[in-house]
Amino acid sequence: MKRQETMQLSQIPSMTALLAAVSADSRLSAEPRSTITPILRSVVEDIRSRGHSGETSPREYESAAILEAVFRKIELRRLHRIRPVINATGILLHTGLGRSPLPEVAIERVARVAAGYCNLEINLDDGQRGMRCSYAEILLQELTGAEAALIVNNNAAATLLALCALAEKKEVIVSRGQLIEIGGSYRLPDVMQAGGARLREVGTTNKTRISDYERAIGENTALIMRVHTSNYRIVGFTAAPSTPELAQLAHRRGLLMYDDLGSGAMLDDAVWTAADEPTVPQALRDGADLVSFSGDKLLGGPQAGILLGSREVIEQLREHPMARALRVDKLTIAALEATLECYVDSDTARESIPMLKSLNEPITTVQSRAKRLVEQLNTKPLDIKISTSMEQSYAGGGSLPAWPLPTACVRCVLPRTQQVHEIAHRLRIGDPSVMCRIRDDSIVLDLRTIRDSEVGLLATAIESALSH
Ligand SMILES: *Cc1c(COP(=O)(O)O)cnc(C)c1O
Repeated sequence: MKRQETMQLSQIPSMTALLAAVSADSRLSAEPRSTITPILRSVVEDIRSRGHSGETSPREYESAAILEAVFRKIELRRLHRIRPVINATGILLHTGLGRSPLPEVAIERVARVAAGYCNLEINLDDGQRGMRCSYAEILLQELTGAEAALIVNNNAAATLLALCALAEKKEVIVSRGQLIEIGGSYRLPDVMQAGGARLREVGTTNKTRISDYERAIGENTALIMRVHTSNYRIVGFTAAPSTPELAQLAHRRGLLMYDDLGSGAMLDDAVWTAADEPTVPQALRDGADLVSFSGDKLLGGPQAGILLGSREVIEQLREHPMARALRVDKLTIAALEATLECYVDSDTARESIPMLKSLNEPITTVQSRAKRLVEQLNTKPLDIKISTSMEQSYAGGGSLPAWPLPTACVRCVLPRTQQVHEIAHRLRIGDPSVMCRIRDDSIVLDLRTIRDSEVGLLATAIESALSH
């Protein structure tokens, strides 16, 4: 090491001096010592190691610069804390943004159950051990006509459990057109392998016939599986057997038919038919022995995996050791039960479940919200060009991929001096945080996923991002 560098390194203030400076800094003084000390050490450590290789400038050794670096690290750390985000992307079921918001009644139920003890596994009638989820399972049976139900952590867990319990070391027949990948971390062939089942692919990407399934059935076949192509559609020259055809074939050959529905549309709504989205009750009526879907997609509830089917199959899953590892907690149960109660009739469901409400919201309502945002932005001294446009958004989260929703957007064209990615970054790290779309030199705010109560906050967030 050169002599000059040694001298510089010795100029780094002592830990005691730095901690004293922290106490005097209004941005940092409220942070607990247990947070500050390790961050402070790592900043000093970093300066030292770069100092040894001659990569630092003398300014970095000053107390103010060190504190600034500590402050930036603490800010970054805070950004990882989970918090609300205003979703201006227009994607209703954005997996990155937590998929569906919960109905008001579900939020209240979660809060009440979370605050104290509850009857999670106690039967209040006889005081003996009860079954977790029993009420949610009854609701699901009533809503769908299923004989039995089981609730697990998410739909990936539901699939895994189904494969482990029904097809371990056996073959599962799936069409090549349905070997889905969702969000990168869920790929059906990998889940199949993890579940100990052997994938038997049949047909081609665009066409699979019932005879392909028939020919693939052998001694070792356990299941015929249909997977809903929830986040894509194969269109054009295509063919795939229907659920009734697959179920009939399975039953004729003494096999089970499992339908991974993915999105879980509960109401027998015309909307779903138009969007080529199978509903849960229909899949059961079509003869599937087992269906599964997510709780936080089109159902509009908390993250969960819901399995419905014949009593025999569901009991087999329930008794598998894996079921214990995949079970849901009391907060999920509270939210799911309250969400399912909203389905007593379709009007109540559409009114009280935010997911369904947003999906069904008339375009005129979305447009008037866009107008209100423009009005609010116009009251602010902003150097941007504002316009509205009619666009399309998508349900997202692997649902209704081929079903564009009309929506209204507000577009803010930025002045040349502003970098669009920089503004989007400031919107994300702001308070409240905002996720928007970017197009060319402008930020685009989709009003279908904005709540009425968020319009004012959004206008303020934009103002502060631009006047930074
Ligand atoms: C979304 C989806 C999954 C994964 O569900 P998670 O609840 O996210 O685990 C699996 N299969 C299909 C068909 C899906 O659409």
